[in-house]
Amino acid sequence: MKNRPLIGITPFYDYDKGQTYIKRGYCEGIVEAGGVPVVLPVVCEEELLSDLFSHISGLLLAGGPDVDAKYFSEPNMPCNGTISPFRDAMEIYLARKAISEGMPVLGICRGIQVMNIAMGGNIYQDIYTQVRDKALIKHSQEAPTWYPAHEVTLEEGSKIRQAYGVEKLEVNSFHHQALKDAAEGFEITAGAPDGTIEAVEYNGHPFAVGVQWHPELMWKEDRLHLKLFEAFVESCALYGNAS
Ligand code: MN
Repeated sequence: MKNRPLIGITPFYDYDKGQTYIKRGYCEGIVEAGGVPVVLPVVCEEELLSDLFSHISGLLLAGGPDVDAKYFSEPNMPCNGTISPFRDAMEIYLARKAISEGMPVLGICRGIQVMNIAMGGNIYQDIYTQVRDKALIKHSQEAPTWYPAHEVTLEEGSKIRQAYGVEKLEVNSFHHQALKDAAEGFEITAGAPDGTIEAVEYNGHPFAVGVQWHPELMWKEDRLHLKLFEAFVESCALYGNAS
């Protein structure tokens, strides 16, 4: 690829150690797919974030802890887990900006939830506590991270279906939360057999896709999962060339 797009990845932040870190599958997946990853600093100042934003051609919202429920107007229930206030503020700002300005954004696990919350949607703080009308399957797998835990069905005509090129996909699963009401503008494009929302995309956007699974932990074992990174990077390259 001629112009490899620069793609900002949001990292984990350890409040005790004051350390920023990211699991390697994200960066390596972007590299393997033809992009240049850059791990963003965890900062909250909007002016600085806006400047950072102007240097990247794509945004990857990585997995991580639970979002503070205040962002979807609920009190935090006992079933909500660890909260990362800096990441919440930073990612919600960046997700909203990327979606509204047409910059490609890929949200993984926490990332799909951030995208939805940023645009006015909400999530279950804990599916096992709050989903009462369905028999849930296991979404918090204890098998190795690359091992598929359940199937998802990808909707015809969606970007996720186009990226993977299959209707049924085996995915891993490391979430106790999931989207409840998709925000206006989002289409639900993949679901688990128990009805859990597993992917969404924003209508009319070149590439604003969120997935509840972790392709970055699977692609080395199953190259099919690199296809999502490839579709994302391709969209980032187009955005970078146009802007
Ligand atoms: Mn799942």
